[in-house]
Amino acid sequence: MGYYDQHLHTQFSPDSAESFENYLEQTDDLIVTTEHLDFHDAYNGGVDTVLDYAAYSDKIDALNRIHGGRIRRGIEVGYTPEAHTQIVSYLEGKTFDVILLSVHQNGHFDYLQPIIDEMDPKAVMREYFGLCTKAVRKLDGANIFAHFDYGIRRLSVTLDDLREFEPQLKELLNAILAKEMALELNTRSMYEYQNADLYRYLIGLYLEMGGTRFSLGSDAHSIHKYRYHFDDAIALLREFGVTGLTQFKNRVAYIEPI
Ligand SMILES: [Zn+2]
Ligand SMILES: [Zn+2]
Repeated sequence: MGYYDQHLHTQFSPDSAESFENYLEQTDDLIVTTEHLDFHDAYNGGVDTVLDYAAYSDKIDALNRIHGGRIRRGIEVGYTPEAHTQIVSYLEGKTFDVILLSVHQNGHFDYLQPIIDEMDPKAVMREYFGLCTKAVRKLDGANIFAHFDYGIRRLSVTLDDLREFEPQLKELLNAILAKEMALELNTRSMYEYQNADLYRYLIGLYLEMGGTRFSLGSDAHSIHKYRYHFDDAIALLREFGVTGLTQFKNRVAYIEPI
């Protein structure tokens, strides 16, 4: 079995209309979907975006009976300190193969909303990386830290800008290491939002600090972005001497060679 795309959305996420069936047609191998959980979802008018776990599980069970158990279940937890208790109680007693941890918003607005354009970019970066570190420290049990650059996707951040935040990024990476989580290479961030150079820098920093766990995810919301630019991301990892990706089954990590 090869490595697979570890960050995908279907119609079980409000911002995707894609079906499991269409993803299954893309491959004979495993797939996993990682659906949104965002309480007080700023991107969605402030309503709670809550994965319908029963419907999601039923759908996967039914398809797994036909497709030889090829679907794994995942969730992308959008963390805010305000929603901590709701997140923990939602996750309790539910079964996932992989839990992604993300920061999408600061409790007032999502970092992809236009208000970001009017703000001081450095202030946005400071706030965002701070929230990311807090999320990793506070939430136990997550497996992968997703798209470290989500909060700066709307900004034109140069490598020099990012280097200014090296102490904060090290704090974030330290927290990720302490929780034995994997670091996601989000290929839409890298090749659609043009942040590959920022990822290159972060990968170097993470390896220097002893990091070994990498996850590859397109963050596709439709089949058109499935395994988006995976060859480029794999080539980048190989440049750094990385030989495997970290994947999760029943939230237990294992390495898949690249
Ligand atoms: Zn996300
Ligand atoms: Zn996502």
